Amino acid sequence: MSSESETRGERLAALERLRQLIGIERPVDEVSREIWSAALRLGAAEVGAIHVACSDESELECEQAFQTEVVQRLLPRMKSAHQAPFRLFNPGARYERGSVAIAEGHFATPATAGGFKLLLVKVNAHVAADWTGASAVLGRLNRYGRDSACCGALAALLAGGRAPFLDDLREVLESDGKDRLAALLDPARVDPRRRAFCAALVSARMQARRAVLDIQSHRPKSPTLYIVLPCVTINRESRDGEILCGLYTADHRGDELAVEYVGLGDDPSAYEVRRELERYAVEDPGTSPPGTAP
Ligand SMILES: [Zn+2]
Repeated sequence: MSSESETRGERLAALERLRQLIGIERPVDEVSREIWSAALRLGAAEVGAIHVACSDESELECEQAFQTEVVQRLLPRMKSAHQAPFRLFNPGARYERGSVAIAEGHFATPATAGGFKLLLVKVNAHVAADWTGASAVLGRLNRYGRDSACCGALAALLAGGRAPFLDDLREVLESDGKDRLAALLDPARVDPRRRAFCAALVSARMQARRAVLDIQSHRPKSPTLYIVLPCVTINRESRDGEILCGLYTADHRGDELAVEYVGLGDDPSAYEVRRELERYAVEDPGTSPPGTAP
């Protein structure tokens, strides 16, 4: 076995438990703990992180889980007892082009000389599950005593709103000549009761892909293994849940970059959302098998 295939085998073993989480809602703390566990097993000399999430107040729980379980335990100290990821918090959780290059430079610390760094890129779209009525309503939140869209940015996109951040979200959903927004709005293709959920799933998936396209055009300052994780937070009255939608690995530790993906595809009409008690799960018959390029 070549050293390259040994490296790939070790990487797959370290990521196995994370891969088993794909499509299944788990509490936000558990998802972040699994990311920590996988990161630890990968044995990097340094760990850096980019967190992309929506500005919405409801995403604080997800942010804090990642901060507590991953950032504080793995990232380099900026100053005494102070670790932080590179953060992109904006309406709709949009990855902004060029961010990978800046963050990669930050985390190319002296510790990575002779070793490699792991750069985690976690992308969280979100959707609320309101259980205050007789049955769950997805995409609505009882916020401060009033009914509220959540994610409000994705709801505005689905309603045909215009604003620079909505145009940016739209551009990503319409990339590669595929009109995923039209699929979301077509009741024959996506059940309107699941529309907000499917919008969050495909948005996270596509924003993660945008980050990977950036990784593909960037030469890192030190050997880097990127793990890119599209996720959807399920905002609840109780502790929030989270679904890992897929897992990209982009290995740029050698001269060549090798990208692999496993997880949900990019067609929202293919997603099969089901509920098991109060937790959600999503399957995609067209799920990209391990090893698929983006
Ligand atoms: Zn939002």
